[in-house]
Amino acid sequence: MLSNDEKERYQRQILTIGEKNQQMLATKTVLQVGAGGLGSPLALYLTAAGVGTLIVFETDTVSLSNLGRQVLYSTEDVGKSKAILAKHRLHALNPNVNIIIIEEWLTRENAPTYLEKYHVDYLVDASDNFETKFLINDLGIQYKIPTTIAGISGFEGQILSIIPGQSACYRCIFGEPPKKKDAAPIPVMSPTCGVLGSLEANEVIKGLLGMKERLLNTLLMVSLDSGDFTKIKININPKCACQNQKS
Ligand SMILES: [Zn+2]
Repeated sequence: MLSNDEKERYQRQILTIGEKNQQMLATKTVLQVGAGGLGSPLALYLTAAGVGTLIVFETDTVSLSNLGRQVLYSTEDVGKSKAILAKHRLHALNPNVNIIIIEEWLTRENAPTYLEKYHVDYLVDASDNFETKFLINDLGIQYKIPTTIAGISGFEGQILSIIPGQSACYRCIFGEPPKKKDAAPIPVMSPTCGVLGSLEANEVIKGLLGMKERLLNTLLMVSLDSGDFTKIKININPKCACQNQKS
């Protein structure tokens, strides 16, 4: 049962998805990798919307150049741990949500420990590098956890959701991570983070509630330059590694 406070807090969302779905959301655990440009709006909206537990992986400290787009943090936060700041900010926003911060970067080595420790209902990528996006994809497939992955560059973004064993995965589209280049900063417009991070939060919530209209077998390409939102149909690649793990 939702408390009176919760009914008031989530009033407008309950008008959209109903009280049962709001209750269901509060039983779910989401694992988010990254609390930067994409991760800030993602974590803020997942927390405001009332997921049960949000696990956030982040190792970085706040720099001045983060503040142009990473809306979880303030000017006075420069030099401080993003994970600890995120926990305080998100807890202040909604104390009903259990916020777990992990000050490590998710790796193939440490992932099993965390995925066995926590019952994760949804994996969501808010990283800024291809290695992590592929890792999150592979973990979703291996542990059969629904996943959403997004990427941003300049005014452009793309987003895909995956139900392991049922829909095309990130590798079905992109194959292998591109060869590592020098770590030059990726150009990013602030609002691109807001739009793609919010779309990710929306995909996670719909996925947790079992809603059908999602970005499955579909890559949504967003151009905030032209204003176009373009859906590209994606087929499962029968030769993709995700097809060998079906059971
Ligand atoms: Zn695949």
